[in-house]
Amino acid sequence: MGSVKFVDVSEQDAIFEGNGWDALVVVTADVTSIQLDEVAMLASHGQKVDQRVGKSVTLLFAPGMAGGRLIIAPVKHADDDYQDVRIFADAAREGIKVAKEAGAKRPLLLVDSINQQRYQHAQHVAALACGQALWQALELREAGGADEPLEAIGILSGNNGAVLTAIEAGRVLARDLCGTEPERMSAPAFADYCIDALQDSGLAMSVVEDRDILERDYPLLCAVGRSSFAVLRHQPRVVKLEYVGEGDIEKTFLFAGKGVVYDTGGADLKIAGGMAGMSRDKGGAAAVAGLMKTISLLKPKGIRVVAELGLVRNSIGSEAFVTDEIITGHAGKRVRIGNTDAEGRLVLADLLSHLRLKAVNAVKPQMFSVATLTGHVVRCYGGYTAVVENSVAKQANVANSMQAKASIWGEPIEVSQLRRDDFSKIVDPSAAADMLSSNNAPSSVTARGHQYPAAFLIEASGLSQHGLNATTPIAYSHIDIAGSATEGHPQYGTPTATPLVGLFAYMTEQ
Ligand SMILES: [Zn+2]
Repeated sequence: MGSVKFVDVSEQDAIFEGNGWDALVVVTADVTSIQLDEVAMLASHGQKVDQRVGKSVTLLFAPGMAGGRLIIAPVKHADDDYQDVRIFADAAREGIKVAKEAGAKRPLLLVDSINQQRYQHAQHVAALACGQALWQALELREAGGADEPLEAIGILSGNNGAVLTAIEAGRVLARDLCGTEPERMSAPAFADYCIDALQDSGLAMSVVEDRDILERDYPLLCAVGRSSFAVLRHQPRVVKLEYVGEGDIEKTFLFAGKGVVYDTGGADLKIAGGMAGMSRDKGGAAAVAGLMKTISLLKPKGIRVVAELGLVRNSIGSEAFVTDEIITGHAGKRVRIGNTDAEGRLVLADLLSHLRLKAVNAVKPQMFSVATLTGHVVRCYGGYTAVVENSVAKQANVANSMQAKASIWGEPIEVSQLRRDDFSKIVDPSAAADMLSSNNAPSSVTARGHQYPAAFLIEASGLSQHGLNATTPIAYSHIDIAGSATEGHPQYGTPTATPLVGLFAYMTEQ
């Protein structure tokens, strides 16, 4: 799988030659504050020779130390009021890249943390940033062109190596699923890859692949995939995963993941170059699959986690669904299609309808959808994840709690508010259908373009019957990761597996 293994190292002698490590990467905001005398001395000598030491990443020749390599990766602007823990990630990435390029196979990571609440997970965030920096694309690995992976990263004074290793294994799965090109990771291939990667995980797993069953149970999803049925290898799939922890179940988490393996826009075709990069429209399903992997490895007690991944190619062809059609979804709501490129919400509505039925009988259910849903969220927040929650989740403070957890783990979140206007936007003007899926303009030029889809999801999935005054209220939060699922190049950037880390922290930490 090419996933990095993190090893806790408690012996400070590990920094010396002959103890199994071949580089020392020090992530620090202040070279003069490094606790290890030998390292501090070398760094201060180094600074006399090279004034870049402590200002940019530098490798110092360090005889007697691990591999003879001391790499100082400076953390910048740590005192700035508006900085967050990602400054440790930035430094660690630079440092680990230098270590790898210098030839290290077993680098040690020393994170010189700062005693501030916002930096409490600095060591973990720095370690995970190494994983992010070291990941190589699945296609490259399968073509045999990847660099040899590191054997392990030792974390000096670490106490969470197993957790970080499991998180990183989940993130690798998420990146592999999200980042791959449309033929390598078609819907059936995505399903197969998931099942392979989760073999022996202890998760209950099943794949819906029969066309009649898909059309009966996931009619909106199948409308999106209607023209894809003509090509065997492009046909839709729904992957179902479930984890049941040991002990009494105290909470149930239910996730719908958008896995549009390729989005042409459908009949509302993406034009003028807008289609490039649309193989990454499966980042939601990918992140949920990765989260399930992490959970299966760490086996947190007392929680149950249910996931449905909707895998479908929004193809164009003579069978393609078109704008104006009225399609009855799994929840029984008749949906007029406003734009075939607003397909993610259709996929999610059916998945959420199934999860809703499970949530009704579950212990303390919390439902989520995870999706690269709108261009609007990118216009609105840049590279940040947005959460839009229903009334029940808002009362339970779900988004704010998630935001607090996720931000100190280096995955900051913006909380958006669902408002009455959002429900007005999904009224079908003809009154012929129960609702309209969207307007017919790109979301990026639509006011409230990432908030109002949550209104649609609530109505179309039947969750509107589980509001605050219902006999069975259900908390539901919609997570739009269109801006955060990848980083770097706008079309072919690196998948981030966001919001896996934040969700895991939210689900498992008190
Ligand atoms: Zn689309």
